Amino acid sequence: MSQAPLLADAQSSQERLLVIYTGGTIGMQPQANGLSPAGDFPERLARALSQLPLRDQQMLPAYDVISYSPLIDSSAATPMTWQQLAADIAERFTEHRGFVVIHGTDTLSWTAASLAYQLQGLDRPVVLTGAMAPLEAPNSDALQNLYGALRFATHPELQEVAIYFANRLLRGTRAIKQHSEAVEAFSSPSYPLLGERIGDDFILFPSRGLSYQQRGAPRFELVDYQPVANGEVVRITLWPGIAPWQLEAWLSHPNVKGALLQLWGAGNLPDNPALLEVIAKATGEGKLIAAISQCPQGRVHMGAYAAGHGLTDAGVLSGDDMTPEAAYTKLVHMLAQPISLEDQRRRFLTTLVGER
Ligand code: ASP
Repeated sequence: MSQAPLLADAQSSQERLLVIYTGGTIGMQPQANGLSPAGDFPERLARALSQLPLRDQQMLPAYDVISYSPLIDSSAATPMTWQQLAADIAERFTEHRGFVVIHGTDTLSWTAASLAYQLQGLDRPVVLTGAMAPLEAPNSDALQNLYGALRFATHPELQEVAIYFANRLLRGTRAIKQHSEAVEAFSSPSYPLLGERIGDDFILFPSRGLSYQQRGAPRFELVDYQPVANGEVVRITLWPGIAPWQLEAWLSHPNVKGALLQLWGAGNLPDNPALLEVIAKATGEGKLIAAISQCPQGRVHMGAYAAGHGLTDAGVLSGDDMTPEAAYTKLVHMLAQPISLEDQRRRFLTTLVGER
């Protein structure tokens, strides 16, 4: 573990943050075959923070750092990565006032959503961040993202999993990566910002947060994701001309336990009864199947059009306006639990952490 340059020794661990570094562009350095995750992060982080203006440095909380091994490009993350992070936070939960997870941007919103389900009832901040350019690259967004994440992670009224990126604080279960290059890489299409950096101020909008809406007591659900970590939950986005045999190839596979369908618009699929038959057969076999829209905004209303009418009868659960990340990780979370199919279905339809 390493320490922040300022205030480091002044505080007990309950007053300190825990920074967990998992990899991602933010910590990458050029290697022969391209950018790869690089180590020595605690030292590099301390060095970078010491370049902030003195008044910003004085606002920094003390922190400890854990670096994962191996460090990964987040495209390699799996449900086991989500499980590991949740377990590490839960284990140290009472020892730190807040947590910052440093993560690659490619699957950052997936990890954030999964952590939210595993760490329900949080009474302190868990803030994920990353960057579009490495910490040491010229004009990188890394330092400002790190600084903002550290600042928001000290905010006692932030009591949920959030993403801080490019001056904005987003609900973890509501965020998507919307741009592959721009610094404003994340958006929250169906929920307002939880907070914002305006000038030197880090402003939280508490009425939008879970602390006001539904936190209750911490009720972590740390379940073993291993049985659903190897492709047991599939994600199928419809395309014009999709054929029943193609859907069947996924859904009837014995390894598949659940599926997220991304339908057209408000919840439509091609007018072909054989498609619905394939889906009904899978739900009849006890598979957990949910549907959201391919549109990044708006909700599904299954049955609003004749074209989507049979979905509810086929046993498909409405994912409402959930992001693909939130819906998929929720299916994983439900299927990993030793509860009945009926409870899995009921809990999927229930808002657990402001995700729908
Ligand atoms: N491929 C990188 C990752 O997700 C991209 C990034 O961090 O921006 O780890």
